[in-house]
Amino acid sequence: MANSKYEYVRHFETDDSLLPNTWIIIRIDGKGFHKFSQSHKFNKPNDRRAIDLMNHCAKAVMKELHDIMLAYGQSDEFSFVFPKWSNLYSRRASKLVSTVVSIFTANYVLAWPQFFENVCLAYAPSFDSRAVCYPSDQNLRDYLAWRQADCHINNLYNTTFWSLVLNGGKSEQEAEKALCGSFSKDKHEILFSDFQINYNNVEAIYRKGSTVIRLPQEVTYVSAKTKELGTRIKKIPTAVFEDIISPEFWDKYQLLLPD
Ligand code: ATP
Ligand code: ATP
Ligand code: MG
Ligand code: MG
Ligand code: MG
Ligand code: MG
Repeated sequence: MANSKYEYVRHFETDDSLLPNTWIIIRIDGKGFHKFSQSHKFNKPNDRRAIDLMNHCAKAVMKELHDIMLAYGQSDEFSFVFPKWSNLYSRRASKLVSTVVSIFTANYVLAWPQFFENVCLAYAPSFDSRAVCYPSDQNLRDYLAWRQADCHINNLYNTTFWSLVLNGGKSEQEAEKALCGSFSKDKHEILFSDFQINYNNVEAIYRKGSTVIRLPQEVTYVSAKTKELGTRIKKIPTAVFEDIISPEFWDKYQLLLPD
């Protein structure tokens, strides 16, 4: 396109390219999802439909942006990990955060009816998004450990809180008071003694959050030439509900962090 006298305004754009040779994390988080979950009558403490929808959206992002190595999600948030070598959008922060959050949000709305059958979207949900760089593999693992520890703390609290409210006859204020200043072992004890819940037996998807990685799977395809059915191995974004703090996870999936 021909240069116009207006072209100079482009130089007002600032360089926001992220530090080279660092892990890039893009974290998205639902805007006002406390209210959104109430407006759409999410089951408490965990609405499985909402988690499945979040995981579906994370997979959609990974199917479109092939550089993403892993995504970790819990509650209304998801973190997407780009490897150090990624040069997507020349590592421009605004391009990366906006593209990830936009693909995620568009899929959230598009797939809503599939996951929330007979529940109308009352208003358009939105997500915020940020980019952070981590220089070392240890930093990256500590970041993911931080999010999974957050998942654990919140889920233990929420599971106990909602047991007290839904099955213990307490009001929300009373439940909050009962848990004020309590330690982790106190919550385990309340769950076990009052509600016969062994917290360790709560489904892993709630306790550990969801980690989406590209796992090899056999897929069938129709050959364009012969029209015959064939199978091949393809790496498909898949959710696992494992402990990502422990070294075992990184030993098991060694391709994620090759030496
Ligand atoms: P902000 O806009 O600052 O992020 P927020 O209301 O979204 O505010 P968060 O700290 O992000 O606050 O918390 C998200 C809230 O969404 C949770 O506290 C919980 O109430 C609700 N929520 C998210 N996912 C689920 C789910 N699967 N089941 C039930 N509730 C959920
Ligand atoms: P990128 O991802 O780099 O932005 P792009 O394909 O979106 O690639 P753009 O330069 O943003 O490229 O151009 C948008 C294109 O979308 C236009 O060239 C045109 O083909 C199409 N388009 C957008 N709006 C309309 C419209 N209202 N009617 C017809 N075509 C449109
Ligand atoms: Mg937020
Ligand atoms: Mg939120
Ligand atoms: Mg949140
Ligand atoms: Mg465009």
